[in-house]
Amino acid sequence: MHKSIKYLEKTMSIAANRLWQIFCWSNHFFPENPSFTPAWSEKPLLKSYEKSKPPLGWPRQTDSLCPRCVPEIRRQIVDGKQDYHVLLNERPGEIKAQIIERDGKILMVKDCPVHGHFEDVLSIDPDFLRHLEDTFPGRDIRAHNDEKLHNHGSSTIRHGRGSVLTIDLTNRCNMMCDPCFMDANQVGFVHELTWEEIKTLLDNAFSIKPRRQMSVQFSGGEPTLSPYFLDAIRYARQLGYDSVQAATNGIEFAKDPEFAAQAAEAGLRYAYLQFDGIGNAANSHRNVGNLFDLKLRAIENLHSNGVEIVLVTTVVNGINNEQVGRVVQFALDNPDKIALVSFQPVSFTGRDEAITEERRKAQRYTLSHLAHDVKAQLNIGEPARDWFPLSFLSTFSDWADLVHGPDAAWGHVACGCHPNCGVGMAIMVDKQTREGVPVTAFINADQFAKDVARINDWARSRWISAAGMALALIRNYDPFRAPTHFRAIDMLKKLDKGLGATGHDYGDVSGKRTMEDIVRRRLDRWNLLFVAGMWFQDLFNYDFRRTEQCIIPYATQEGEISFCAYNTGVGWRNLDQVVRRARTSRDIRRRQESET
Ligand code: SF4
Repeated sequence: MHKSIKYLEKTMSIAANRLWQIFCWSNHFFPENPSFTPAWSEKPLLKSYEKSKPPLGWPRQTDSLCPRCVPEIRRQIVDGKQDYHVLLNERPGEIKAQIIERDGKILMVKDCPVHGHFEDVLSIDPDFLRHLEDTFPGRDIRAHNDEKLHNHGSSTIRHGRGSVLTIDLTNRCNMMCDPCFMDANQVGFVHELTWEEIKTLLDNAFSIKPRRQMSVQFSGGEPTLSPYFLDAIRYARQLGYDSVQAATNGIEFAKDPEFAAQAAEAGLRYAYLQFDGIGNAANSHRNVGNLFDLKLRAIENLHSNGVEIVLVTTVVNGINNEQVGRVVQFALDNPDKIALVSFQPVSFTGRDEAITEERRKAQRYTLSHLAHDVKAQLNIGEPARDWFPLSFLSTFSDWADLVHGPDAAWGHVACGCHPNCGVGMAIMVDKQTREGVPVTAFINADQFAKDVARINDWARSRWISAAGMALALIRNYDPFRAPTHFRAIDMLKKLDKGLGATGHDYGDVSGKRTMEDIVRRRLDRWNLLFVAGMWFQDLFNYDFRRTEQCIIPYATQEGEISFCAYNTGVGWRNLDQVVRRARTSRDIRRRQESET
């Protein structure tokens, strides 16, 4: 792009800054409009200053679990020696934990009166964690009308509606991974949801307020093995969810392009593809010789049928963290196919709860390790400038909720998780030249979010709010740091495409979308590649302040439970069957009593 355009954009940015001052000044003459209550909630939208926050910074105290008491209690409940109600009415295994800084690291330290002292690393970079906590905008609207689904004692989800609803369709799998969250194929029995059960879980999810858009994720085992996989996608789309994804190893999609076409036709929008690294050697621990080749074929079959790809990599320090840069590079090299990369630092759960202290110390991988590895291996992203908590995006969802008005049937998808849970870096990638630059290198994101929060608080009309958003963006935009061919108008279009403010048709994303819609959305020269990290907890770093605002609810027959509380914590996954058995026999008893 000719340099003169960059100078012109710089002039625009300076002018936008002046206009922004006038915009703010004129808004001071009118009081803030009150927040409206949208159709999708029974509580009003929150002003930025009404949002609650958990205690942040350090030193601080939080509620955690003893890594030795909890497995004992779990076993007692599974063996029938203890009633599961203890989880609802008491706080078994819970102990206080301190979050402190020591020797340039942030640690969680805690003492159990029976099992002694435990400590683990939360961050190897205090500035990085401070930046995440400083830019956390606050929690979402409190969950309501949710008593039947959110009832898990101290593990209960209390805020928001989540953003990824996870439903395990089956525990069957076509691989034998070790470790496996599900213990799929190793538990000795098949647990597979019936069609009626799948419908009930989705109908239940639809009933909770606030009713926000979520990504419905069908998971497993391997969800493609469920006989209801395609029907479940279709039904979730019918209910009105814009995004339906499958957490898959990709084997079925690699084997059969027709199956990928059927899934796309049913409404599958994203494949959340297990992706351990680049090359067959990096995948060899899964015991399939040509697994990487299979992944490439799955990506091809899914993409050509209109399904976008999310690469998902679990990272263990010293084992595969050298793959982090290569996986991001793969996404940068394939900007037309890869929408998102999701790294999941290892969580020592299941059999790994018994891990030795030595191995845990060596293999612990935090979000701060991730940011530093990406920087060291690719020279992309300043840890304390370009990485933000996932919840940072919620200021922009709030803006979308405002401009969509009180009659919108759904709230915009919102990530309201704790700033210690998840992080992300957005990279703007030129699909033609492959040049990629973190968005926060050329947009002052911190100031931009503060500006948007002011617009949200004023709560003016749709078009005034849209004009404010445009001014805020351009005044915080530095054209000389942006990719060579990027223009401010491209960023405005990206925002509009994601937040749907002007009603412009970029290609339908609802269940009615056609291949034409998909092609239209893909025509964009720019891929906003999101590199995310979600750090699932384990008993060594467990923090109840995180689960109570969890954005990954697991939909089960016993309600919706935080992913962490389900898979780690007191381990509702193990207790699910016990609770269900107890409730079923109680119902039978009650029925018998009423009949006599
Ligand atoms: S799944 Fe765990 S790490 Fe992720 S948002 Fe929920 S509580 Fe946080």
